[in-house]
Amino acid sequence: MAQSEKMEQQGGNLSKQSPSTYYLKFQKMPFEEDLFHEFKGHKSLSTDQLPKWTQATKWERGSRKAVSRNLCGFLNTGLGGTVYCGVLDDGSIVGLKLTQYQKDHVVYSLRDLMSRYSPPVPAHRYRVRFVPVLSSDTPEKDREELASVDTRDLVDEEERKTEHQLRTAHYCWCDKDAKVQYANGVIVTSYVIEISILAWNPDAAANMGLGDFLNLHPIHSDEDGKINFRRQARLFQYSLQEIASLTRFEARNRRVTIIDRMQREIAALKQRLPAQNNQVRNAADEGSQ
Ligand SMILES: [Zn+2]
Repeated sequence: MAQSEKMEQQGGNLSKQSPSTYYLKFQKMPFEEDLFHEFKGHKSLSTDQLPKWTQATKWERGSRKAVSRNLCGFLNTGLGGTVYCGVLDDGSIVGLKLTQYQKDHVVYSLRDLMSRYSPPVPAHRYRVRFVPVLSSDTPEKDREELASVDTRDLVDEEERKTEHQLRTAHYCWCDKDAKVQYANGVIVTSYVIEISILAWNPDAAANMGLGDFLNLHPIHSDEDGKINFRRQARLFQYSLQEIASLTRFEARNRRVTIIDRMQREIAALKQRLPAQNNQVRNAADEGSQ
């Protein structure tokens, strides 16, 4: 399949290939779930957006888990990764029908979710793309053109400013509007929503001051206060103690030259800031282990 050859390997696997501009319905993704890729059949970003019938109870495990845990996991490896909404667990591409207003809703929801993490996730660390899913009998020659339709041209700019209801599983005005459109026979395009967390780059200017004193990537907890880590295609929740030892391990692996430089700066700071001596000394001792 042609578009898979162009598939961008996002989430840390930098590739010179350009990202796919469309998917074909019911085809399989060219990779499985792994350290960098997660498939979701739905678009419930946060726990409060999960419909009640999908949530865990005292007796049953939830049938659906929010996308948030996976994004948190990709942040905490520092390696990044992509969640594909509209792709089943086995990699089958089904897509999610979305009007422009519903796409806006997803973008606002994501921004809101990232602001609820601790620490909050700045906009330069994530990205969202809506990749159209075309019927597999679409003639090859028409695919690029169909995929490049900009649905922003089809909507009312004033209406787009209407506030969306974000932290709820209830229908928003954009969902009601979509229902009216289906009922009137309007064909609404399906998409795979690709939400990417970018790999942590300790030397990027935008990241300065966000990490710790060595500028290792920050560890985030999600909107439920949980700290998720991704290992292969699975998520783990670590205790604070485990995170502390992981961070020490990463710190030891950082380039010695950076540690030396930081220690010289810390030594200089110690002389200038006697009140904060203890804190800075502890940090310096960790770095020299
Ligand atoms: Zn909405």
